[in-house]
Amino acid sequence: MCWWKKRKVKTRTALTPGSYVSLPYPEEKPDHTKNKGNTTADDAKKIFFEWMTTYLVPSEKTKWWEKVKITLDESTVAATDSKHKHMWISPVWLNPGVIAHEMAHISYWQLSPEKKRRFEASYQATTEPLVLLVKKERTYAETSMVETHAEIYRFLGKYMPESFWEFYPFLF
Ligand SMILES: [Zn+2]
Repeated sequence: MCWWKKRKVKTRTALTPGSYVSLPYPEEKPDHTKNKGNTTADDAKKIFFEWMTTYLVPSEKTKWWEKVKITLDESTVAATDSKHKHMWISPVWLNPGVIAHEMAHISYWQLSPEKKRRFEASYQATTEPLVLLVKKERTYAETSMVETHAEIYRFLGKYMPESFWEFYPFLF
């Protein structure tokens, strides 16, 4: 076998579903050139739609998600009031992945206490390779179940195992 054939085989192996060696939505780098002077509400809207597209948020849910107010705020990385659907995000961290994480908090807020318990049980018992990869690589996911829930969505997005979709209202 010549070298390039070998290489091709290797690449294809790495991309076979279920055999991921890295998280499908890697973390974006912060952009320290951004601030409130050069970033507008329109930029935030643009990134909001980039999140909807890259994470394949169902288009019939667009109107529901558009009700989330996004405020640019340099005093934080990102924060969300899930009850009132209000997000504050730093221009430096304005990217689809951070928006995905914060939107997952709003989705989690919609779960009943019983569903939250079932989510926790599913997470603790999971053998899904991608969920285990989040657990292994994202220690922040271990800080609370709310953060676990958000990190799974933020790093797996549309590749999240189907058995978890029911815990992500308005996102699948
Ligand atoms: Zn969070």
